[in-house]
Amino acid sequence: LFSKILLAYDGSKAANKALDRAVELAKVTPGSSLHVVHAFEFPRFFIGEALAPLPASVNKDYYDLAVQTTEEVKRRLADEGLNAKVELLQGAPAETILKYAKDQAVDVIVIGSRGLGGIREFVLGSVSHNVVQSARIPVLVVK
Ligand code: ATP
Ligand code: MG
Ligand code: MG
Repeated sequence: LFSKILLAYDGSKAANKALDRAVELAKVTPGSSLHVVHAFEFPRFFIGEALAPLPASVNKDYYDLAVQTTEEVKRRLADEGLNAKVELLQGAPAETILKYAKDQAVDVIVIGSRGLGGIREFVLGSVSHNVVQSARIPVLVVK
């Protein structure tokens, strides 16, 4: 069975369904560990040719939102009586998830099919697409 489980979490509806499944997996596997990764990036915008950071106050809002998202997932896991490691990591989501999976040698990645983005005509979002494409381990995509 999968003893080291990585949940990719962005606070979306599909990510919350993925959380339920990750919790189930963790509960049926004695001695397993659940790791949750929420990746966040500071947005940047173009001025002429250069990519510029946004003002500090805006960046703080993004950071606060990311912290809120991890607190949400911590609350949900506490309700389940599950002890998990929740990580807030800076970086592009797919790369960050894949790097964490590799560094921590996890056995399975649990991820939502879609996230907070918009275009519903595709089954997968760009993050779930890239993770499924590049992961060397099983990925459970939850719809
Ligand atoms: P897009 O981002 O391409 O506009 P989307 O938001 O609908 O599309 P994804 O971002 O691919 O879809 O989200 C699919 C799943 O990937 C989410 O349910 C979540 O499990 C994971 N995910 C997305 N963003 C992050 C993130 N920043 N940190 C951790 N996991 C994430
Ligand atoms: Mg997204
Ligand atoms: Mg996106």
